[in-house]
Amino acid sequence: MSEYSINTKCVQGGYTPGNGEPRQIPIYQSTTFKYETGDAMGALFDLEASGYFYSRLANPTNDIVAKKIAELEGGSAAMLTSSGQAASFMAFFNICECGSHIVASSTIYGGTFNLLDVTMKKMGIETTFVSPDCSEEELNAAFRDNTKLVFGETIANPALTVLDIEKFAKAAHSHGVPLMIDNTFATPVNCRPIEWGADIVTHSTTKYMDGHGAGLGGVIVDAGKFDWMAHADKYPGLTTPDDSYHGVTYAEKFGKEGAFITKCTVQLMRDFGSMQSPFNAFILNLGLESLHVRMPRHVENGQAVAEYLQGRDEIEYVSYSGLPTDKYYEVAKKYLPNGGCGVVSFCLKGGRAAAETFMNALKLAAIETHVADARTCCLNPASTTHRQMNDEQLKAAGVPAGLVRMSCGLEDKADLIADIAQALDAIR
Ligand SMILES: *Cc1c(COP(=O)(O)O)cnc(C)c1O
Repeated sequence: MSEYSINTKCVQGGYTPGNGEPRQIPIYQSTTFKYETGDAMGALFDLEASGYFYSRLANPTNDIVAKKIAELEGGSAAMLTSSGQAASFMAFFNICECGSHIVASSTIYGGTFNLLDVTMKKMGIETTFVSPDCSEEELNAAFRDNTKLVFGETIANPALTVLDIEKFAKAAHSHGVPLMIDNTFATPVNCRPIEWGADIVTHSTTKYMDGHGAGLGGVIVDAGKFDWMAHADKYPGLTTPDDSYHGVTYAEKFGKEGAFITKCTVQLMRDFGSMQSPFNAFILNLGLESLHVRMPRHVENGQAVAEYLQGRDEIEYVSYSGLPTDKYYEVAKKYLPNGGCGVVSFCLKGGRAAAETFMNALKLAAIETHVADARTCCLNPASTTHRQMNDEQLKAAGVPAGLVRMSCGLEDKADLIADIAQALDAIR
């Protein structure tokens, strides 16, 4: 599929049926797979043959969809996980262990922040957070001898900062570690981080890739470019024998292109079992078939809503990287030439009360803990996800009480703007 454009890959990537085979991808709704001899199955357990034996580790439906996403991102291999959180954790833990250190952008998804700052800290893995806007000197100063990975989000949820991926890739590579990017909000249609130097790309496929609020899922894509053997001392899990597989050394046996995803599948999936169900993989694939058609519309609606909001008196400020006044406008022009996504955030002058009145008055846009759906939805962090904080703490965290995050869906933009207009009128 590599010769085709991203649009064609969205529709037909990952699966080319043979004569008389199903046109749509089959759902292999089976926990296990049959073999004629014990030896044939034994070869799978020894990693000497490729095939399926138990859906906790791998399933053919999932592999079709993972292959499509690898093609979209320009990676060498990919695997699906049960959620975006599972993808982040497994990608981190595949190369980090007790005593490891991670450098991460500070403006990342709250769930990932908690995972790194609280849960993984309990496993002895520490993270230093740096501003996405830090200088190269500040970034380089965050590294330690035991740093194994650099992490950031292309467009951060919910801060909407846009990452200078090349700056982070340069720092990572000069310290001999890979760069991992969560590309959930941009999707490969609007940005392919591997082209800018990223080594591993993750997604919550729950968001735009699925796009219809139907199936939870995640994915890990490996660029296949990082030379683990050249930094063998840092990554013993990939470069020394795995006793749980009769001493296989992943980086030697599967090379740069296959080592990361093979280890993640046969070792971490085996032990943690955060597998996506084949039915969810099928739903995800339906979403991917129209991703290249939907993303431009999400961007068009996000841009129109952001511009409208900017012209209203009730609004203190609007964050959207497609606005020339936005702090990330220039960075976005480089990394997101076709636009970013449909998520806009804005602060109402009237604070918490105004946000509440505004949201309660909306008719089309629903109040939901979700983003990146075909249907427009919105959230006031102060009264929901950040409820435990007082107004002072909210301000310090960059989510003032009057902040609303609106995820623009695929409706007609004139209808969305009319809905927003009448809801803003209700504040007065
Ligand atoms: C939602 C989200 C996640 C977590 O994904 P789930 O599928 O909800 O587990 C991770 N990263 C980003 C950027 C997200 O928006």
